[in-house]
Amino acid sequence: MSALPVREKLAILSDAAKYDASCASSGSAKRDSLKSGGIGSTEGMGICHSYAPDGRCISLLKILLTNFCIYDCSYCINRSSSNVRRARFTIDEVVRLTMDFYRRNYIEGLFLSSGVIRSPDETMGEMVEVARRLRLDEKFSGYIHLKTIPESSPELIEKAGLYADRLSINVELPTDEGVRKLAPEKKPETIRLSMARLRQKMEEKAAPTLRTKKRERFAPGGQSTQMIVGADKTSDDGILQASARLYGSYHLRRVYYSAFSPIPDSSSSLPLQKPPLMREHRLYQADWLMRFYGFSQPEILDGSSDGMLDLAIDPKLAWALRNRGRFPVDINRADREALLRIPGLGTKVIAKILATRRHRRLRLEDVGRLCHSIAKLRPFIVAEGWSPGTLTDTQGLRDKIVRSCEQLSLF
Ligand code: SF4
Repeated sequence: MSALPVREKLAILSDAAKYDASCASSGSAKRDSLKSGGIGSTEGMGICHSYAPDGRCISLLKILLTNFCIYDCSYCINRSSSNVRRARFTIDEVVRLTMDFYRRNYIEGLFLSSGVIRSPDETMGEMVEVARRLRLDEKFSGYIHLKTIPESSPELIEKAGLYADRLSINVELPTDEGVRKLAPEKKPETIRLSMARLRQKMEEKAAPTLRTKKRERFAPGGQSTQMIVGADKTSDDGILQASARLYGSYHLRRVYYSAFSPIPDSSSSLPLQKPPLMREHRLYQADWLMRFYGFSQPEILDGSSDGMLDLAIDPKLAWALRNRGRFPVDINRADREALLRIPGLGTKVIAKILATRRHRRLRLEDVGRLCHSIAKLRPFIVAEGWSPGTLTDTQGLRDKIVRSCEQLSLF
C-alpha cells in the first residue's frame, strides 16, 4: 500500500473523511472551473471549511490517516468488512502535505481522523505524533482538530490536547442501544468516560497555576462530538435529549448531526434510504435554540405527537404556533428573553432592536428592514401602528406562512 502515490492516497483518504460532519461545507453546490477555464473549485481534494474558536471561517485539510480499520461499525464505509480501496498515510506524509498546503495558502489548518489500525493506542499515537511534529518541529501555528479514539489511553488523549486546538470524540449514535447494535466493538461507557476525562483535563488546565499565574494551553477550542441521524429509529426528541445531556455533562462546544448515508453491502439492520437532509438542518436549528435562545430541550417538541421536528417549518416557528397564547409580543417593550422566542428574529437583529428602541419606537417596517422577511413574525408581534388582531389565532396560519416563505424564496 505504501507504493500508492501520495496524490492517490489523498484522493482516497479525503473522500473517506467526507462522512465526518464536523466541517460545514457539505451543503454547498458543486462547482468546478476545469471546463470553464476560470479558477477555483468547491471540490478541491480534502479541503473543507470550518469555524475557528474565534468565529473565523477557515479552510482545513480534512483527511483520514488511514481508512483501514479493525472495527466493523455497520454504518461506516471504512468498516473492516467493507470492500473499499484502502490507503494509509505515513506521519511524514501528513506533516508534509499540511505544510505544503499551508505554505501555498490553500489551508489554514488540519482536520485529522482515522480508522483504527492494529490498536486504538497505536493509531492515536500516530495522530498525536503528526500534531506534535507540526507544532514543535515545523512551528505550525494553524488550526488542528484531532478526532480522538475513545478506547486509547488517557495519557495519549491528554497529549493530543497539548497540540490540538480542538478534540472530538464521536458518540456515534443517540442511544446506547444503537451503539451496541450497530457498533458492537464500541462501548458507550468508554466514550462517556473519555469525554468526562477530557472535560476534567480542560478545566484543570484552564485554572491559572499558582506558580506562573497563567492558564496552560490545552485544546482551547474545546471538545465536540458527532451523532449519526437516521441510522436507527431514534426520534428527533430522543436525539435532542442526548444532545442536551452531552452539553450539560461534558460542556461540549458543538454536537454535529450527520445524516446517515446508505453504503454498499450494508447490514440489513440499516435503512435503505438516507433521511432527508432537511432533518439534519432542523436538528441544527433546534440545537441552536437550546444553546443561544434560552429554550430547554423538552420545550422544543412539547405537544408534538411523534417527537419529530416539522420539516416544512423551523423549530422556533413550530413552537410559536403550538404556544400562540404567549403571543403577540410587544417589540417595543418585551425583554430580550421574550424577543428571543419570536419566530424569524435572530440574536443579531434582537441586539439591533434593543439598541434602536432606546431612541424611538419601532414600527413593523423598521423590523422588516432589520430582518430578511416579516412573513414569519407579523402574526407574533405588536409594533408601533401594528397589531396582528386575530391573525395570531387564525386557523391555517402555518400553511399561510409556509406559502409566503416559499414565494419569497423564489426571488
Ligand atoms: S471505528 Fe471509525 S472508521 Fe472504524 S468502522 Fe467504526 S466508525 Fe468506521
